[in-house]
Amino acid sequence: MSVIPESNVDVLIVGAGPAGLMMATWMAKCGINARIVDKRGTKIFNGQADGLQCRTLEILDSLGFGHRAWREANHMLEICLWNPDENGIIKRSDRIPDTIPGISRFQQVVLHQGRIERFFLDSIAEASEIRVERGVMPSSLKIDESVVEDDAAYPITVTLRHLTEEEATPKQNSTSANGQSVQDGLFRSNLAKDDTQDLLDASKINAKAHSEEVIHAKYMIGADGAHSWTRNQIGLKLEGDSTDYIWGVLDIVPITDFPDIRMRCAIHSADCGSIMVIPRENKLVRLYIQLTTTQKNGDNSGRADRSKINPQMILESAQRILAPYKITYRKLDWWTAYQIGQRVGTSFSVHERVFLAGDAVHTHSPKAGQGMNVSMQDSFNLGWKIASVVKGHAHRSILKTYQSERRRIAQDLIAFDHKFSRLFSGRPAKDVMDAEGISMEEFKAAFEKGNMFASGIAVNYGASAIVAKEGSSAEQGDGTDVSVANAKHRVISDQSFCSGITVGMRIPSHKVLSQADARPWHLHEVLPSNGRWRVIVFAGNTNEDRQREKLWKLSEVFSAPDSFLNLYTPKGARYDEVFEVLLIHNAPRQSVTVLDFPEVFRPYDEFDGWDYNKIFVDEVSYHEGFGNIYGALGIPQDGAIVIVRPDQYVSYVGSMEKPAAVNSFFAGFMKEQHASDEAQTNGTKP
Ligand code: FAD
Repeated sequence: MSVIPESNVDVLIVGAGPAGLMMATWMAKCGINARIVDKRGTKIFNGQADGLQCRTLEILDSLGFGHRAWREANHMLEICLWNPDENGIIKRSDRIPDTIPGISRFQQVVLHQGRIERFFLDSIAEASEIRVERGVMPSSLKIDESVVEDDAAYPITVTLRHLTEEEATPKQNSTSANGQSVQDGLFRSNLAKDDTQDLLDASKINAKAHSEEVIHAKYMIGADGAHSWTRNQIGLKLEGDSTDYIWGVLDIVPITDFPDIRMRCAIHSADCGSIMVIPRENKLVRLYIQLTTTQKNGDNSGRADRSKINPQMILESAQRILAPYKITYRKLDWWTAYQIGQRVGTSFSVHERVFLAGDAVHTHSPKAGQGMNVSMQDSFNLGWKIASVVKGHAHRSILKTYQSERRRIAQDLIAFDHKFSRLFSGRPAKDVMDAEGISMEEFKAAFEKGNMFASGIAVNYGASAIVAKEGSSAEQGDGTDVSVANAKHRVISDQSFCSGITVGMRIPSHKVLSQADARPWHLHEVLPSNGRWRVIVFAGNTNEDRQREKLWKLSEVFSAPDSFLNLYTPKGARYDEVFEVLLIHNAPRQSVTVLDFPEVFRPYDEFDGWDYNKIFVDEVSYHEGFGNIYGALGIPQDGAIVIVRPDQYVSYVGSMEKPAAVNSFFAGFMKEQHASDEAQTNGTKP
């Protein structure tokens, strides 16, 4: 009898879609021992999600590959609204900006999910030995509840089964268009039955593919999509409902006389349904079309009968909605169909050991362009937290904030999608007396309001150990206890300090100049996603005695043996392994040099010398204008301290005169590494 191999891993990720790949990227960047498996033999190559919100682009940029998406994607700058006129003929009724001007340095773009997955895979390979193990899926999961609170334990035991290449390759309906064979997305769509159990059954009887292994893991992430096997194993459910709206998706190179085909358009016809037009890269256009003629399945599943849906019938629906304009194509890149269902998980984890992320915990219609974004942002929220717990930097208690922060976002998303779907899918009102019809003014207002939500910038996390603001765990809405580990460490921000910074939201980005070499940087560029906390001191004009005095006092507190820097940085680790202390002043740049500032802002390394990358100035640059970060963020001349989480969300804002508040904030959840009286900077200094 062959022996089943067993091994330990800190983090096991199931599913290599956007949510799983984001988690693997954090693990790679933070140096965590992790594995990621996917039942499919390949990543996706075309179709599926394509919208990237500006917050997602900021995140991809912080991971080092935002520029690839930004360059390759099609940029969407204007939305055109088309509605029936008094004769029932569609006409353009409005134009609005696609992304609210000024909310981010990025705007909404579209690029298909396969490319995004490619960027993740390259980034993971660059930073680590982690590789997606394809054709591998879990067949059993056990959790030893007696050790879930033990940091050193591996409470999760998973059996993995390896599939053959044939099993791991999804069967495609072969569609042909103009002689080419075209991939469809039906096998992933919610109109298709989940094939997880079929694959497991097939692999058991297939002699070549019966190899199994057992993995013991500290943490596990089920990022295995809407049919999530992990979710079923841990007994969690999705709650919500499925509507009757059935949508078809065509990715085509259109041949048309419709004038706004390269704009994002929301088109409501008088009686034939609605279309969303999404202009894509490489002359492609995606049409999201409401299908009014689809038959329901006779199997009581509530799913539409997908055998009745094909590209031709989707095109014919599009032609009816767009009439009198004409549309056809010669090149079809991809197509699919899906039924709108809006559901959210009752819980996002069990014991803060097995977590769910992405479509595994929330499903909704794709046309608001949210699914891939929110899925990636789930694991962007969770990844750094797990990494800092696995590394022994932070207490496990911070993991509770995953559910308290992300479940609320999922609920908001479902509410948004519900409203948006109703307005989008409904028939336009013929006049003010037509109560069953949708008012196009209401649709426009919802669209404009939804723009802020859809950008991802509006995310505002509630009070917790890692978000120091007024509020209690009761306000989390789901009873999750996210209070500080020890009430004596409770720190509350003074929001009045910086009118342009909201505690719980991501810090806005504006340009600053490096004090050392005058190079302009966007603030976000100096906050890359590498697992580090940032303490940013806005010191004001440090040529003024008052400000200089405060700065030196603050630096004494930060350098003291009992400071957060000394207590929570592991002995022997680089000075900024856990925290980066940054300074942004607004004294005239040429009146000072980096060496005029306290050493805590220019730490010394015996091999590298002074660190020149942590002091910045708010001043006009030679070639790229003036960021005016003090003005934009409402920083007072008295200065301020801002603590920024590893995911760029603001934890704390307070006075420069209370530097000890930073120690108290971190005492709430960080683990003491050593009680050393050594300073963080050593070596022989010049
Ligand atoms: P998925 O992308 O579903 O990835 C899950 C992964 O887990 C897959 O690779 C799968 O093979 C693997 N897996 C599943 N079960 C197992 C198992 N048992 N063992 C091992 N591996 C497993 N979103 C947008 O933001 N914008 C859009 O425009 C948009 N359009 C869409 C259009 C269509 C037609 C569809 C179907 C979806 C669209 N979405 C869109 C939604 C978007 O694709 C999803 O929200 C997103 O892919 C979710 O990411 P995920 O990583 O959570 O799940």
